[in-house]
Amino acid sequence: MSASAHCIFCKIVRGEIPAIKVYEDDLTLAFMDIQPASPGHTLVISKAHAPTLLDIAEVDLLAVTVTTQRIAGAVQQALVPDGIRINQFNGTAAGQTVLHYHVHIIPMWEGQKIGAHGRAPADPDALKALAARIRDALQA
Ligand code: AMP
Ligand code: ZN
Repeated sequence: MSASAHCIFCKIVRGEIPAIKVYEDDLTLAFMDIQPASPGHTLVISKAHAPTLLDIAEVDLLAVTVTTQRIAGAVQQALVPDGIRINQFNGTAAGQTVLHYHVHIIPMWEGQKIGAHGRAPADPDALKALAARIRDALQA
């Protein structure tokens, strides 16, 4: 069986498990992190399965990078953070927990002290409300 068969992000791409999506195109998908490090924490993934930066095809890497810029712009417009942290981990030793290439977009406010990952799952309704604001900003 392929690596992607059990991959949780591949399951989201295939629609086998739900995600609160903010954006989708042929090569990439952006959705809310279920355990956000900060309100508005969004993930951008390649639709094609590749574990890390070292494995991903150039075309998918470029597409994820362009989507990351677009979503970060929408997060900035929607939530007006003081800064935006972009995290990307490669390998479990580096803190990667889902071995499918993805980029974290984490809005940051002055004085905020957060870890790389959130500590508890967020309220789904709160995530849906944040996603709606980010989607609206994408269309503005
Ligand atoms: P990383 O450590 O870079 O692999 O981060 C994986 C991220 O995926 C974590 O921030 C998790 O909270 C998030 N995550 C795991 N499963 C899901 C899911 N089903 N939907 C949304 N986010 C998820
Ligand atoms: Zn995958």
